[in-house]
Amino acid sequence: MSQFWSSIVNTLTPYVPGEQPKISNLIKLNTNENPYGPSPKVLEAIKAHTDESLRLYPDPNADEIKDAISAYFTAKGTPVQRDQVFVGNGSDEVLAHTFQALLKQDEPILFPDISYSFYPVYCGLYQVEYKNIPLTDTFEINPKDYRQSNGGIIFPNPNAPTGRLLALEAVEDILKNNSKSVVVVDEAYIDFGGQSAVSLVNQYNNLLVIQTLSKSRSLAGIRLGYAIGHPALIEGLERVKNSFNSYPIDKLAIKATVASFADEVYFEQTCARIVRSRDLLSEQLTAFGFEVIPSSANFVFAKHPEHNAEALALALRDRSIIVRYFNKPNIDQHLRISIGTEDECQALIQALREILTPS
Ligand SMILES: *Cc1c(COP(=O)(O)O)cnc(C)c1O
Repeated sequence: MSQFWSSIVNTLTPYVPGEQPKISNLIKLNTNENPYGPSPKVLEAIKAHTDESLRLYPDPNADEIKDAISAYFTAKGTPVQRDQVFVGNGSDEVLAHTFQALLKQDEPILFPDISYSFYPVYCGLYQVEYKNIPLTDTFEINPKDYRQSNGGIIFPNPNAPTGRLLALEAVEDILKNNSKSVVVVDEAYIDFGGQSAVSLVNQYNNLLVIQTLSKSRSLAGIRLGYAIGHPALIEGLERVKNSFNSYPIDKLAIKATVASFADEVYFEQTCARIVRSRDLLSEQLTAFGFEVIPSSANFVFAKHPEHNAEALALALRDRSIIVRYFNKPNIDQHLRISIGTEDECQALIQALREILTPS
């Protein structure tokens, strides 16, 4: 507390990100980073543009990125124009602007009780009222629960930290039954097995889809996220962005992003490799007695009926493996384990074998 703080600062409960320990030889399975590096073409692009032109400000609109993204989705079958794309410094920033520009309404917004824990933090920052909608007993979003009046709806799909996917028809059900509110689908993990709601943006003017380069494109360090939706929604976001930071996307991030969307082969190969490891790890964990929620993401969410989750996380840590543990109601017996390389997954299995076998 300080007498110099603006009064709202006293009310904030900031988000706590998964730790980034400065220890080497650690198997880091706690923040859903991609275990494979970015495409070599991305690294070449960054090197090629690391020159004296960095003295200049970047394009304030990052139009090169918007054009690359619109061309990418158009080629995949959904025509997306430049004015349907918003870009930000990580999807966390896109989310922040979304809360401020679109989700602060007279009625409370809705989101699942178990979902991305940054949402309530933004509600605190922007003073957005919200109502949590419980997941079902099997940790699923039930679209029928979203048939009630609201000021907007947001959920991750696949959900975080459960990894569960909501089918596209169910997303569409939520859109149809909420035509008067904005429905934001946070698709940070969609490339690991889901069907994206981007295919619906030209049908529903209340839909905003947010994606990131941090997970499936292995560029968490670049901080690039984007939103796709009706031009009026995008304009709302642009108005907030241009009242906040004219140049959120630096020049190297622009070049890296464009190069990433140009290398589809690398993207598809690395995503497929992670999906294979996830499915194998899920089987192995199940064989150890874990209850594993079916995952469509690059992590699994699992609990062991006979072992305390926090104790397991600490025992793994003693073996230099870090996973994410949430000390929160309903999920304090689960571990969220990011999918590493094949070797990292096997090291995890070996460590669990030691921990779970009575000596
Ligand atoms: C990782 C994640 C984000 C944030 O991604 P950045 O683009 O790195 O800011 C947003 N939403 C969900 C659900 C995530 O898991």
